[in-house]
Amino acid sequence: MTTHHPFDDFGKHLFSENVMKETLPYPIYKKWKTATRKDDALDLNTADAIAHAMKAWAMEKGVTHFTHWFQPMTGSTAEKHDSFVEPGEYAQAISRFSGKNLIKGEGDASSFPSGGLRATFEARGYTYWDCTSPAFIRDNVLCIPTIFVSYNGDTLDKKAPLLKSIDAISKQATRIVNLFKDKDIRQVHPMVGLEQEYFLIDKKLFEQRMDLQHCGRTLFGSMPPNGQGVADHYFGSIPRRVAAFMKEVDEELWKLGIYAKTEHNEAAPCQFEIAPLFAQANIAVDQNQIIMDILRTTADKHEMSCLLHEKPFQGVNGSGKHNNWSLVTDDGQNLLEPGERPHENIRFLLFVCAVIKAVDTFPELLRMAASCYNNDYRLGGHEAPPAVISICMGSYLEDVLMRLDKQEKGSLKDNESTAISLVSLADVPKDTSDRNRTSPFAFTGNKFEFRMVGSSRSAATTNTVLNTIVADALGEIADELKDYKYIDDIRRQSLQICRRIMKQHHRILFSGDGYSQAWMIEAKKRGLPNISCYIDTIPSLTAAKAVDVFQNNGVYKQHELEARSEILYEEFINSVRVEVKTLLDVSKKCLLPGLIKEIKFYSDALQSLPKPHLFYEKKINKLLKLLDKFNDQYHVLKHKNLDARPLTANREIARHMNDEVVPALKSLRDIIDEIEESISYENYPVPSYEDLLTSVN
Ligand code: ADP
Ligand code: MG
Repeated sequence: MTTHHPFDDFGKHLFSENVMKETLPYPIYKKWKTATRKDDALDLNTADAIAHAMKAWAMEKGVTHFTHWFQPMTGSTAEKHDSFVEPGEYAQAISRFSGKNLIKGEGDASSFPSGGLRATFEARGYTYWDCTSPAFIRDNVLCIPTIFVSYNGDTLDKKAPLLKSIDAISKQATRIVNLFKDKDIRQVHPMVGLEQEYFLIDKKLFEQRMDLQHCGRTLFGSMPPNGQGVADHYFGSIPRRVAAFMKEVDEELWKLGIYAKTEHNEAAPCQFEIAPLFAQANIAVDQNQIIMDILRTTADKHEMSCLLHEKPFQGVNGSGKHNNWSLVTDDGQNLLEPGERPHENIRFLLFVCAVIKAVDTFPELLRMAASCYNNDYRLGGHEAPPAVISICMGSYLEDVLMRLDKQEKGSLKDNESTAISLVSLADVPKDTSDRNRTSPFAFTGNKFEFRMVGSSRSAATTNTVLNTIVADALGEIADELKDYKYIDDIRRQSLQICRRIMKQHHRILFSGDGYSQAWMIEAKKRGLPNISCYIDTIPSLTAAKAVDVFQNNGVYKQHELEARSEILYEEFINSVRVEVKTLLDVSKKCLLPGLIKEIKFYSDALQSLPKPHLFYEKKINKLLKLLDKFNDQYHVLKHKNLDARPLTANREIARHMNDEVVPALKSLRDIIDEIEESISYENYPVPSYEDLLTSVN
């Protein structure tokens, strides 16, 4: 008898292309395939046939419900469950799932943020099947990836803009590869691999920390004096319960056809990483949402809590989500891979230069798209990229590009020889193991790795921005090249374009230590924006150049951008408000009584002594001083928070929260941390950092 291997279940819960091939009549499968290429719309007969096959496949696996799974602007996922069962003519239950059910869903959208896009008289929202991302089964529910739009067709989710940006970049990149004589290429896919970091802590301790429960991070807590010791103690060993958790996560993901591997990550105690194999951008973003969900639910099963927050612990490295990104043609050529032939090399340089131009033109947008309130606690902290965006190409390629910059006009006439000598890239060091990890945007052999993205964020917006801005740069290049007929002319002109881009945008290249103070000074000299607060990046979304780039590439309309910017402010304000409320509550109901008990303990002890004793008196004095400071700062925070009341515009409220309330939160925290260091374990009524950070060992 053969034993069951987890790989036997690989893809068991995924209505994959292979399953479609097997279960659909061939003409139907072909029609679906054409629809995914956007060559032709899906007709209802085809949809009916697919729906039927999908239902049969799912019901065989015990599935009873289906849902249109979508990604509202909250950044998480949502679903509305419907049963396959409908009452039949003779009161028996029959199962029904039509092409219409598959393609379109309708629901009340009023519980999701719309930034004002949904007029009150029309609170309905519609979900439409994204036939390019496969349906899957989760907990006996068939999940159909969909986009979510309003009655007027405005996008209400994160996925529709992503799909539009994918179309935009595919179109422009295809124009260029076609000019380079690859006439048969019809599509270029942005490919994305997302590395997800997270923390695990024991569930019982999690439940004793209101801040973790409500805010996802600790709002107070001081590192033990042997803080590093906690890390050392941890290094190298995977505790048994974590290993069991990882095994289950991996197996769950394999069933969904996600090639993932969880790994121990030594950066911080109880911090881990999971990286699935890269996939087409929209699938990778969907998979990342599923992964975050599976991490949370599986941790729960194993009596642990998974923290996806960017900075759960002050003084401990936070978590990110590295966005690895490349462009691959439908015949499998990676356009960011330096090739052997000069032809491929010039094309490679052209694509790299398009990225350089895009990033240098829209750094604020990228910074915005990767961030949120939480990420401000992580960026620039010698653990994550600085808030300044630069591109690390590695010294070899940077040198090649800088030589282009220095080339005099006209010196490329003898194009072939110059081109070949200039771009002999076949021996570009491919080993990326020693690459610069301090760069926010690094070329890593055949892809760019954007390391600024926060761990809790949906990767949709990051990739929407990246695709759009690069599409725009590629579009301009294609416009310039389209009038040249001969490949030699196209190559020569391409190098001229690269040279021009390098002249204008070389300031964005930096391969040195991104964490160093010297770079901050140098970056300022170069005029690179250094935006330390997230809310200062939000206006970049509605700035004229952003509106142009999004509209021209068919990704967002202006009013959609305005709505989104409102939602970002709201989201920021809510995050800070929840933190304030939580910290005030914990202070009043838990920490203050603890401190008072401690004072009482010493004063009782003092009174029981035959005569006064200096030690006790000093101790009591110190605690009383802390009590005063604590009480004062408690009220400062409370009042600063209330001061926002007369403000009405989200932008102003967010400004006030950022400039007045967030620092007050920090000041109260500092006093609480001082109290923690001064009082007994008994009267400090919540688990300490040391408890939390060693809780899954
Ligand atoms: P690191 O060294 O940064 O920790 P990992 O191997 O953990 O790298 O993760 C790299 C990620 O990049 C994986 O998700 C991988 O699938 C992805 N990746 C590899 N090649 C490409 C590519 N051409 N395009 C996009 N992503 C890629
Ligand atoms: Mg990485």
